[in-house]
Amino acid sequence: MGMNESEVYNLLNLAEDYALDGFRHHHPPLKPSAEGNSASLSPQAALDGIAEQVADCTRCALHRERKRTVPGEGASSPLVMVIGEGPGLDEDKTGRPFVGRAGQYLERWLQAIGLDRRSNCFIANIVKCRPPGNRDPSPEESAACLPYLKRQIQILRPKAILTVGRISTQILCERTEGIGKLRGTDLEFVGIPLVATYHPSAVLRNSDLRAAVWQDLKRLRALPGLSDSLGAPEDPGSR
Ligand code: URA
Ligand code: SF4
Repeated sequence: MGMNESEVYNLLNLAEDYALDGFRHHHPPLKPSAEGNSASLSPQAALDGIAEQVADCTRCALHRERKRTVPGEGASSPLVMVIGEGPGLDEDKTGRPFVGRAGQYLERWLQAIGLDRRSNCFIANIVKCRPPGNRDPSPEESAACLPYLKRQIQILRPKAILTVGRISTQILCERTEGIGKLRGTDLEFVGIPLVATYHPSAVLRNSDLRAAVWQDLKRLRALPGLSDSLGAPEDPGSR
């Protein structure tokens, strides 16, 4: 019996999810989605299936105080997947990622290099439910939620990943250094080039970080899968 490439990939991923999350953190593997073999679904239908599973999820304690789940949103075949930490107050209210002040700032960053959150990006977070008081998600909460993000990445197959902030960068790169050390270095996740930068909330608090973010955005834009699709960058600081 032959398996195609994405079926093999699926199988390996489920095994890995189980090894990582089932074992180390005593979380069961995700149930297969209700629609059955996600490899046969359109990307949008597969993404919708994940969002439905997330809406009912009780894999970690964050489900208790959430108002809405925030699975992520955007293009189903994006150039860039942007990954933040977790929903804040506005996101918990609306069920949409990065819609508060930090989100509006992030949208300007994307626009500066020809990206757009609807047409050629997908925006998601490490955890899909708001940590109370905007605290950092715990390692257990992040591990419980990570299988959803991995499946999203597997469906979306973005040309590049942009992590914003320390938490998502450390988790996806399995590194312990701070964001100041990790940004500006060559990183990847499951073979997809990954650019790390500061979190827009941090840059709103400290404008000294803006120059570094601009360097990181230019680095992102220059990646092989992106440079041919995007126009010349325009420094948002110069507007
Ligand atoms: N901060 C994040 O990390 N994610 C959001 O969705 C909103 C704010
Ligand atoms: Fe489930 Fe993730 Fe929400 Fe935890 S944060 S309850 S793992 S969807």
